[in-house]
Amino acid sequence: MIGLVVKKNADLFTVATPDGEVNVKPRGNLKKDGIFVGDKVEFDKVIQRVCPRKNLLIRPPVANLDKIFIVLASVPQPDFLLVDKLVLCCFVKGIQPYIVVNKEDISDDKFVANVKKTYKGVAKVIATSAVNGKLGNLKKEISGITAFAGQSAVGKSSLINALLGREESKVSGLSKKIERGKQTTRLVRLFEVGKGYIADTAGFSSLDVGLTTHLSPQEVSRYYPDFLPFLANCKYRTCNHKTEGDCGVLQALKNGKISQMRYQNYLKIIDLLATFKSKYM
Ligand code: GDP
Repeated sequence: MIGLVVKKNADLFTVATPDGEVNVKPRGNLKKDGIFVGDKVEFDKVIQRVCPRKNLLIRPPVANLDKIFIVLASVPQPDFLLVDKLVLCCFVKGIQPYIVVNKEDISDDKFVANVKKTYKGVAKVIATSAVNGKLGNLKKEISGITAFAGQSAVGKSSLINALLGREESKVSGLSKKIERGKQTTRLVRLFEVGKGYIADTAGFSSLDVGLTTHLSPQEVSRYYPDFLPFLANCKYRTCNHKTEGDCGVLQALKNGKISQMRYQNYLKIIDLLATFKSKYM
């Protein structure tokens, strides 16, 4: 039988099948550390084999992600560099990014409209208000394996709770903080919602962007769907889109066809990758 790992607890794996969930251990010489929530596994009395996976995130550990909902809000002040790093990360790993503008109840319409304009052709933008239970198309867009990402306090946990129909815990600010501290070490679990699953973790934050390969500026720019139509206009194949003459991207920027903010963040991202020559951003 083939099933989906929805929970991992020490060496016991909860595997979802059309007939319900079963708890199984891996066969003797299959390492438990090599099996993740999100993995498809072949099993009988024990897990025999892990099916090939399309991607794997290390923190939080989830395999085979299809979509990531990148959450932002007008408060706290949005970190669009983080958003653009997460968007890039998604495209590199073959994950479809969405931008969720939460706290619609306290944002003006212009804020949402601006985000929509900036990410046109890059990611679908969904406006939500977790406190009002207004989730827009969020539930409808859930298919496959999905997770939430974004800076702290934008409402990731609140959105997950709303989707799972859970009450938000009514605790004071301090104990809530302590609770969140605990949450980060808590195990990931997949819950069925709509046509897919959501990872019950708000663990993707600025520290966890983890690109696992080094990328050149040319490679980075190919992961920018908003730059893509203009790359063919660059004179040089090795164009970094920084100061080169006859650059399609700079031309499009001048003509207002590329967002200034997206471009400035692109420069920061390629500099970060070049400075640290790092595998991680
Ligand atoms: P996380 O750190 O991203 O998981 O954010 P939380 O879900 O813990 O939310 C942070 C704070 O924002 C909490 O005080 C929530 O009650 C509040 N919050 C979450 N969603 C909304 C919303 O849609 N509107 C408003 N006004 N506040 C929200």
